[in-house]
Amino acid sequence: MMPIEERLAQNVAGEFYVTSACIDCDQCREIAPNVFRREEDISLSVVYAQPTTPADRSAAEEARVSCPTDAIQRS
Ligand code: SF4
Repeated sequence: MMPIEERLAQNVAGEFYVTSACIDCDQCREIAPNVFRREEDISLSVVYAQPTTPADRSAAEEARVSCPTDAIQRS
């Protein structure tokens, strides 16, 4: 698991977050667009909204386990 200090500062506070291991592949944004977006300043994905519905939480979890670099973590 990534150390907590790798968490990108642009993530909103909360359980799900993206680390600097992101390679900007777009997959999480496709799977869970209500949770992840591209932060243009750093050209990486971040969590811009924590999931609040079962559907969004399920999508966020699917994105987390599908991320090719394990950049999506849960605290
Ligand atoms: S799936 Fe992982 S590597 Fe791809 S954009 Fe999302 S966080 Fe980055």
